[in-house]
Amino acid sequence: MVEKVYVTYNDVHKLCQEAAPKILESFQPQLIIAIGGGGYVPARILRSFLKQPGSPNIPIQAIGLSLYEQLPVTNASNVNDVVPDQIGTKVTRTQWLDLSSLGEMQNLVGKRILIVDEVDDTRTTLEYAVKELEKDVEEARQKMGAGPEKTKFSIFVLHNKDKPKKGTLPADMIDESRYLAARTIGDLWICYPWEAIDIDEHDELARKQRTNGNGTA
Ligand code: 5GP
Repeated sequence: MVEKVYVTYNDVHKLCQEAAPKILESFQPQLIIAIGGGGYVPARILRSFLKQPGSPNIPIQAIGLSLYEQLPVTNASNVNDVVPDQIGTKVTRTQWLDLSSLGEMQNLVGKRILIVDEVDDTRTTLEYAVKELEKDVEEARQKMGAGPEKTKFSIFVLHNKDKPKKGTLPADMIDESRYLAARTIGDLWICYPWEAIDIDEHDELARKQRTNGNGTA
């Protein structure tokens, strides 16, 4: 059975608080794009810690991505005969940028944009998000002719699982330290507080793990 680790709202809050000065120092985002649903709460908390006196709050946009396993076309009569490596993963957009509040896509050209999600597991979702956002913004930039700088994307996740990744991120993003994970952990299943049915029980399980030295914080 996959080992579970319980993360509380306070843990999430503190991970965002700890990451904010690093993000401010290295990137100073002008827009946050939260990948739903796990990126919403961290993005909102992070915004408070990124707020600079005299500057407005950084706007948050939400995009919805859903990842599902695609079974291969096969002659296998039994699902257990399917080789796991043949199973593909497909990301679909359930929600995209709200241009009614952003104005046109050209408003994102040359900006510094922070993408926020809760966990980098296989990296499939993050790869998709970065590629699609870069594509949309680059299209808008091309239409503006020569001149405007490229938009810079960076990533913040609460947890990165230290495991072989299916997805890849642009090399310059990694080279320029535009990827930040508050914690890097093993291949565990993380139970986030917003998924809990009984939050008191969830917090109690987190507390017990902490006492036993098995938490992630
Ligand atoms: P990916 O494999 O594309 O990196 O992650 C896809 C999605 O799977 C994540 O955005 C998240 O919603 C979900 N996921 C992956 N690992 C975990 C985990 O340990 N805990 C929870 N709650 N969700 C996870």
